[in-house]
Amino acid sequence: MIALLALPAAFAAARPRGADGRFEKRESSHFVLHQDVDIDESGGLRGSRRFEQQVLQELEVAYERLDAFLGLRPSRRIAVFIYDGEVFDARLGGRFRFQIAGFFNGAIHIRGATQLTVELGRVLHHELVHAAFHAAAPSLVLPAWLNEGVAEWFEARALSKRHLSAGELAYLSRALSSGAWLGLGTLSQPNFARLPAGGARLAYLQSYGMVEHLVRVYGERALRELCRDVVRGRDLERSLLRSVHRGVRELEADFQAEFS
Ligand SMILES: [Zn+2]
Repeated sequence: MIALLALPAAFAAARPRGADGRFEKRESSHFVLHQDVDIDESGGLRGSRRFEQQVLQELEVAYERLDAFLGLRPSRRIAVFIYDGEVFDARLGGRFRFQIAGFFNGAIHIRGATQLTVELGRVLHHELVHAAFHAAAPSLVLPAWLNEGVAEWFEARALSKRHLSAGELAYLSRALSSGAWLGLGTLSQPNFARLPAGGARLAYLQSYGMVEHLVRVYGERALRELCRDVVRGRDLERSLLRSVHRGVRELEADFQAEFS
């Protein structure tokens, strides 16, 4: 695997491609894809070239949805790295206290995919939202409830899931009645990376719920206005008041009241 790097180039080239720490690069209109996944064949239906094309197609579709739903159109190409699962865990896994499928830190990093599954499509949509906010306002630190909530909403919306599922509603209901419900202080951190696994699940779900509530009550257009306005004006409270006539405390209270 990574040890192949130490071998003479000619020998390494004769080995199956697989995950070897060297990234194959391929570009589309808005993305640069680097992949080092465990696919031995380059050609054919299950080959790495086909996989790269499918991932880039999915990303370009997601890019158009970004504009349609969130009013965001990053002008620079976005870098996307797809790693072999073991390589990802060894290099990057220690950053989080819970298992993740991807993250964004100026580029999109995806763990261990070799086929364009529904799950990979979701992760690509999710991380693209973080990339788009970053591209539109690089120095703006959004509260995680908005950044993660919009990313969760966007990945669900791409699959035509518009609302919380019965299971998600029940989970939130239990969180409120048991006193586990997270306050705005926790939800407004820049990210949820330091939360323990259970807390992180609840944080993502409350964030998604707040955004779903906003869209359900005020419409998809309000979310689009909010996203465009916040990256321009860099004042979330003002953008919220403008787009839905509620401040963040009122919005959170309205959402919480649905469970009490
Ligand atoms: Zn995220």
